[in-house]
Amino acid sequence: MTNTKPERNGEPSAPGPLSFPNSQFEPTTAGAGIGHNGPPPDTPFSNPPTDAYLNPTGFGTERSDSEGSGAWGADRMYDGEKDKHKAVDILSEVDQPIYAPLDGRASSTLEGDYSIVRIAGKEHFARILYVKPTEEIAGAKGEITVKKGDVIGFTQDLYPIYKKEKMKNHIHLELYRYPDIKKGTSWGPIDPTPYIEPGVEKNE
Ligand SMILES: [Zn+2]
Repeated sequence: MTNTKPERNGEPSAPGPLSFPNSQFEPTTAGAGIGHNGPPPDTPFSNPPTDAYLNPTGFGTERSDSEGSGAWGADRMYDGEKDKHKAVDILSEVDQPIYAPLDGRASSTLEGDYSIVRIAGKEHFARILYVKPTEEIAGAKGEITVKKGDVIGFTQDLYPIYKKEKMKNHIHLELYRYPDIKKGTSWGPIDPTPYIEPGVEKNE
């Protein structure tokens, strides 16, 4: 990626190229499931998830430190413009295993210093930053099938990237709905918080 610039206090805000899933992962129109039958992208989420996604680190404590908040919608700067954090930051130990939050097809990319694992699930597309992929995922020519709970990688140390001692190590989790991706005009990120199982409190 050449057009992805880091924010002042974190992550590139552009999602980067998304590989479209195989037809077996296309959303269906049947049923009253989450995601594709839910509210439009900018409407606050109101339907409860039908099947909670696994917390990728196991730590339920959302990142909050003097470098910023990791909550959905927290203030960010991007290219000198005010923006919002369209993700949730989940605390992590450096090099701890990261678990697939959902079933799907996984691939990885490196965008500058950011190591990213992406999972194309049935109803949602997840993009997780600061995860060094497993050799299996990194070495794959395309996407490989993963199950919820599989180890997909290990947390990067954020200090060498940001040089900010007070920034707590975390992963950055983005969630997208397919119809929004397909529109092309909006990436349609949604708040992952209601979808992710609560984890244990992280002691600092
Ligand atoms: Zn983040």
